[in-house]
Amino acid sequence: MSTFKAPKGTYDLLPPDSATYLAVRDAIAAPLRNSGYGYVETPGFENVELFARGVGESTDIVTKEMYAFETKGGDRLALRPEGTASVLRAALEGSLHKAGNLPVKLWYSGSYYRYERPQKGRYRHFSQVGAEAIGAEDPALDAELIILADQAYRSLGLKEFRILLNSLGDKECRPVYRAALQDFLRGLDLDEDTRRRIDINPLRVLDDKRAEVQKQLVGAPMLRDYLCDACKEYHEQVRAILTAAGVAYEDDPKLVRGLDYYTRTTFEFVHDGLGSQSAVGGGGRYDGLSEMIGGPALPSVGWALGVDRTVLALEAEGITLDLPAATSVFAVPLGEEARRVLFAKVTELRRAGIAADFSYGGKGLKGAMKNANRSGARYTVVAGERDLAEGVVQLKDMESGEQEALAVDEVVTVLKGRLAE
Ligand code: ATP
Ligand code: MG
Repeated sequence: MSTFKAPKGTYDLLPPDSATYLAVRDAIAAPLRNSGYGYVETPGFENVELFARGVGESTDIVTKEMYAFETKGGDRLALRPEGTASVLRAALEGSLHKAGNLPVKLWYSGSYYRYERPQKGRYRHFSQVGAEAIGAEDPALDAELIILADQAYRSLGLKEFRILLNSLGDKECRPVYRAALQDFLRGLDLDEDTRRRIDINPLRVLDDKRAEVQKQLVGAPMLRDYLCDACKEYHEQVRAILTAAGVAYEDDPKLVRGLDYYTRTTFEFVHDGLGSQSAVGGGGRYDGLSEMIGGPALPSVGWALGVDRTVLALEAEGITLDLPAATSVFAVPLGEEARRVLFAKVTELRRAGIAADFSYGGKGLKGAMKNANRSGARYTVVAGERDLAEGVVQLKDMESGEQEALAVDEVVTVLKGRLAE
């Protein structure tokens, strides 16, 4: 071990486990790529003001969790705590919304940073795959995103997750509800911090995880009862489309989520095997965000799924992904001449698209075969001086243990055929 360790709240992805992370990212991205979403990549840091405005001054993310800093040049930046504000900023800056092809559908995958109290499923550096559909107000679009996330989780074999669904109303009906909720909350016995929250972001109080707070919230006015007709109708359509698609969801009138910018449709994916860090993903509609960051009105909807927690969910359900072995052919040379010949074969195999590896470091047969076994290769090619003198190599099928001599010239063709079987 070196003198250094990964910083608190972070961890490294190392083989073989790292392969699962790649597969999870691929599995989440696959339904998006198949549904008209284009790949977007934005910087790991942005002007801090983008998040302050875009995520919300009253959120935990901005007030407590953001890695904000000043550069030597005096710029105020922050490591990105989430993806939506950056992606929308990039779409506006690149004028994607002006190409006359709305909604602009984008997906992304990357690292996010939040200064949180580290615990299982909660890290200071974590990874998300997300999707945003920018510039259209259509309940089918909200439903599409939920259906695609559901498809992604199912493709991984996950079963014990639930979809929680709510509507947060819009700029017509939410302010009326907000005022009613504030009235109710002011009558409760709450601590100083929570009282402050009543003024800034009262909906977040509903999200309080503490039992003594939840107990007092029984009888709180529910947003559901305040939705205007347009919001009600919109929400009914989202629900109907999900039902028609066979996607089960639960109405959760208390679901508010941590970000300020959500309007109407809001949802969360929770997994029942994860204890208190149960949210594996979440999202919703954010019709006002574009204007908040200085853009035109662009009603939009999106989600972000946490890769770290999805991997924990797989573990909780006892799922091991069926990942192909990284190496198909492993070459074991015995002697200098064999090193030269087999290294050339490995290069040729790789150029033919076959995953091949080589025993480095001049190991003896025993040590090299150990490496071959560990590599998970289906075939091992062994050659010594005597083999080469006869123009052959020994091909070992690692599953059956059978071995046969193969002409040096035929190695690539034969292996190509065998591996395609
Ligand atoms: P939580 O309520 O657990 O803090 P959140 O509402 O802050 O979650 P979002 O901002 O909606 O989370 O991010 C989407 C997903 O990203 C979450 O559902 C979760 O899977 C993942 N995520 C968020 N914060 C962390 C973190 N600190 N460590 C690991 N994963 C995280
Ligand atoms: Mg959080």
